[in-house]
Amino acid sequence: MKEIRWFLGTIANDEEDLRMTCEEAVRKLHEYLDHELDHASAEQVEKHLEICRTCCDHMEFEKHMKKLIHQVCCQQKAPAFLRDKIMNTLSSDD
Ligand SMILES: [Zn+2]
Repeated sequence: MKEIRWFLGTIANDEEDLRMTCEEAVRKLHEYLDHELDHASAEQVEKHLEICRTCCDHMEFEKHMKKLIHQVCCQQKAPAFLRDKIMNTLSSDD
């Protein structure tokens, strides 16, 4: 696993110094959305999202899911099909 990370890091460094890889960006996305990252890391994630359409889409999806989960958790009467749909989406996440 260490070798793969090193390899990905090498590719990223070829293009631009300190550029975050998609793997890193996705790994930090939840912390970023929860505002748990320090300023430097948050900035790195933002920079990556600006240049990477894939991760940007991923973030929009995560944001949307967070909102949905929040709604479901806060509404006792949330329809069961919606809960099932969210649980399915979460468990089928690859
Ligand atoms: Zn990316």
